[in-house]
Amino acid sequence: MSSTVFPLLSLSRHRMGTDGVGITTLAAAAGCPLHCRWCINKELLLKAKPENVTPEEFLERVRIDDLYFRATGGGLTFGGGEPLMQADFIKEFREICPEEWKITVETSLFVPRNYLAQAIDAVDLFVVDCKDMNEDIYRKYTGEDLSAAEENLAFLLQRKDAENVLVRVPLIPGYNTEEDQRRSAEKLRQMGVKRLDLFSYVKKAGM
Ligand code: SF4
Repeated sequence: MSSTVFPLLSLSRHRMGTDGVGITTLAAAAGCPLHCRWCINKELLLKAKPENVTPEEFLERVRIDDLYFRATGGGLTFGGGEPLMQADFIKEFREICPEEWKITVETSLFVPRNYLAQAIDAVDLFVVDCKDMNEDIYRKYTGEDLSAAEENLAFLLQRKDAENVLVRVPLIPGYNTEEDQRRSAEKLRQMGVKRLDLFSYVKKAGM
C-alpha cells in the first residue's frame, strides 16, 4: 500500500453541473497557502480535522459511485483548500482508478511549479479560481504575489489543451469592480484561455 496520503476534510457525492460533465464526488483537501480575505472554506479549514487516506483507501471509499461516473462521464473532483499541494496523491490515484473516470482539480494555481508539473497529466480538467489578474488587487485580497499563479497558468496553457482549462474570474465585493473583472478576462484571453466563467462571490453574514 502507498505511503502517500490525502488530508481529506470532506466528501460530497452526487454533484451535478458544478464542475464539468457528469456526476462527481468532491474531495476537499485540508491546507492552503493563500490567505483569501473571504475564504469560503476558512471555517472548515480551521476547525475540521482531516482524515489521512491512502490512494487505495480513497478508491475503496469512492468506488460506490463507479456506475454513475461511467454512465455520465463524471468522476472525482479534488478541491480544498488547495488540492494541488497533494499532487503526488492525485498522480497515484489516477494510476489506480478506472481510466473512464474524469479527474478535475479546483485550484488557485498558487503552488510550487513542481506540484503542478507532477499532476498535469493526471488531471482531465483544471478549474482555476484566478481571484484577479491585477497585482495590487490580488495581493490585497490573498496576501500574496500574483506572479506565481500567473506563471503557473502560462505553464499550464503550454502543456494542456485550452479546452481542459476553465478559469473562473470572480467579482469580489470590496476588492474589485466589474471593470477589473473585465480587464482580468481580457488579460486571460490574451494568455490563451478559451474557457472563462465570470461570477460573483456571495458575501456571507459576518464575513
Ligand atoms: S484559495 Fe480557496 S481555500 Fe485557499 S484561502 Fe483562498 S478561498 Fe480559501
